[in-house]
Amino acid sequence: MLQGTPGGGAAATGGGPSTRTLVPSTVVNMPNLAWAIERVLPETIADLLELIAIPSVSSVEEHDGDVLAAADHVSNLLTRVGCPEVRLLQAGGKPAVYGHFPAPEGKPTVLLYAHYDVQPAGDPAAWTSPAFTPSERDGRIYARGAADDKGGIAVHLAALRVFNGEPPVGVKLFIEGEEEIGSPSMPALLDKYAEELTADVYVIADSVNWAVGQPSLTTTLRGVVDAVVHVSTLETGLHSGQFGGVVPDALTTLCKLLATLHDDRGNVAIEGLVQGPGPDLEYPMERLQEETGLLDGVEFIGDGSVVERMWTKPAASVLAIDTTRIADASNTLIPSASAKVSVRLAPGQDPAAAEEALRRHLMDNAPWGAGVRVEPGQRGGPSSIGLDGKYADSARDAFTTAFGMAPVEMGCGGSIPIVAEFATRHPGATVLVTAVTDPDSRMHGIDESVDMSDLVKAAHAEAVFLDNLGQ
Ligand SMILES: [Zn+2]
Repeated sequence: MLQGTPGGGAAATGGGPSTRTLVPSTVVNMPNLAWAIERVLPETIADLLELIAIPSVSSVEEHDGDVLAAADHVSNLLTRVGCPEVRLLQAGGKPAVYGHFPAPEGKPTVLLYAHYDVQPAGDPAAWTSPAFTPSERDGRIYARGAADDKGGIAVHLAALRVFNGEPPVGVKLFIEGEEEIGSPSMPALLDKYAEELTADVYVIADSVNWAVGQPSLTTTLRGVVDAVVHVSTLETGLHSGQFGGVVPDALTTLCKLLATLHDDRGNVAIEGLVQGPGPDLEYPMERLQEETGLLDGVEFIGDGSVVERMWTKPAASVLAIDTTRIADASNTLIPSASAKVSVRLAPGQDPAAAEEALRRHLMDNAPWGAGVRVEPGQRGGPSSIGLDGKYADSARDAFTTAFGMAPVEMGCGGSIPIVAEFATRHPGATVLVTAVTDPDSRMHGIDESVDMSDLVKAAHAEAVFLDNLGQ
């Protein structure tokens, strides 16, 4: 169990700015940054542990207070690292935390993004240690949010801390609180605070590295749409013996409908969705087997290379079903049932068109003339991210310095819709999608974790990057 202060008494548990002198800014240079990051590590880990202990689950109403508490706490943490301007930005949704270090004359401004909200923990009994009580095992911190994305916040805090309140470039922090529910108020936030959120470079610390110790820059992200489909066949439940055989029950009908989302080989069968070729990267099947823990005898699905299937083709999954519980079952034909369906979108896909394609598929494939109603949900765009120009080159250099190897330019099957938003709204800016997590991090899963040595390296890379840009 981590007890807050690995370095001994470094955790600032009250709010307020830190008064410790870390490294005088005049001696911060590239060779010293590795040392400076090590030095601020105890405080950074303490910050992360405090943040993890707040169950800021954005999708569950009863955690609304925790979400607000986490926003407040992130504000305090930014103040602690010397941020001169910290406030909450809000546009009808959950607050985002904004911090600003004005740019020294003639220097660019870098916006550092992460999110403080987390996914629900799932079955508490399945966790090796409690989800919101951080626990250290084998150099990793285990807890919900340790990786996604409170680890990303910790990277930003550590990188800023070494500059002792005076980063060599302008820095804006934008730590949002509704990423895990698809950032519903993000377009309104970006409209309302267009000036605050303008920068030369956007660093989105919310992706996945290629492997532990091997950094990545993400070049493509999938988008996402989801919907709840309601199927009904009867006004009310009927005796399954009396009418079974002539009357379809809604759950069987729903299952048949859901089964049409894939062909027999497991490819998505929704017509009209974009797909593209994957990059020339081999993802070994043994690695996939190990990372996924697919049960013995279960086959992987879909056609094409592994990275194509994970990064540049659509994927459909059924997230949940509402129906009669087994404990409440009786010999009754169920009159209605609902399912939540999620579709990941390939780069180049228009999310509105995908939402319509999903809706049409569900309406057109209703078995036996059943009543079908589709309620659209989350909608986020995919991205293709060009890594050209001096800022991208600086980032490659910074990662190479910190990790001792060049970053792997890879795709990501997940969705970070804000990347598309920043890229569209600021076409001249460079967007860099970085990571602190690795394929073993189990983001959104049971026993989520972050590797502490990668946390250090990611923070080191970010500090070197800021330093490079200030030269
Ligand atoms: Zn995330």
